[in-house]
Amino acid sequence: MQKTILVTGASRGIGKAAALAFARAGYNVAVHYYKNRELAQALCQAITETGADCDIFSADIAKRGEVFAMTEAATRRFGHIDALVNNAGIAQQTLFTDISSEEWNRMIAVNLSGTFHACQAVLPQMIARQSGVILNLSSIWGITGASCEVHYSAAKAGIIGMSKALAKELGPSGIRVNCIAPGVIDTDMNARLDTEAIAALKEETPLGAIGSPEDIAALAVFLCSDRAAFITGQVISPNGGIYI
Ligand code: NAD
Repeated sequence: MQKTILVTGASRGIGKAAALAFARAGYNVAVHYYKNRELAQALCQAITETGADCDIFSADIAKRGEVFAMTEAATRRFGHIDALVNNAGIAQQTLFTDISSEEWNRMIAVNLSGTFHACQAVLPQMIARQSGVILNLSSIWGITGASCEVHYSAAKAGIIGMSKALAKELGPSGIRVNCIAPGVIDTDMNARLDTEAIAALKEETPLGAIGSPEDIAALAVFLCSDRAAFITGQVISPNGGIYI
């Protein structure tokens, strides 16, 4: 039976590259998106052209009811979900002392609770089949901490703790859980960085470049594949060597 993957926040950036890479690797793809239906539809069209089956499902990842409804719809459509990539996320740059409680709560709700909701929504079927893979998107800042991104760093560090604990709890059920903690990747999330800032980051990075969404997608496909069958509870940070 062909495997189905659910990629959250797939309409653009890393999620989009991952959805396409999984399609090319032979998966059917459930594309989750938030608001931009047109982008999701265009991606779905591109995925279908690779020969994979694809459909689109929307939800605010922070809202538990919407995530469960989205997951149920995807499961009905494809029959099962074999792998989940928790990619949807938001970032914000602000001084810690200026973070409002609304901003703090939204950061945790989207990045950390969103991952919690999606995991809980797909796990019953994975546990019943004693098989599945979960891949969570953390960040280099969840490992090292980022100035002016304390709430983002906290949420992404939470995802690392959650992934490690889940890997222990779910290993006996045949389910692997890993984490990717990217360095700086060229997506809308970093659109605020001007040419000078990008040049400085490249200068600081041993490999002399910032990453592409495809760099992360390639690792995601590997970690979800059977070639990574002995890898669980790990945090892998594709970052060009900026943090070793
Ligand atoms: P992006 O902003 O291009 O994509 C984020 C995606 O999340 C979008 O599709 C967006 O619609 C979705 N999303 C945001 N809020 C949502 C919500 N409430 N409900 C559902 N979906 C929502 O950014 P990206 O760089 O592609 O980021 C993808 C993931 O990688 C994020 O978790 C991000 O934190 C992580 N990451 C990115 C970088 C980087 O440098 N770009 C570095 C480390 C980690």
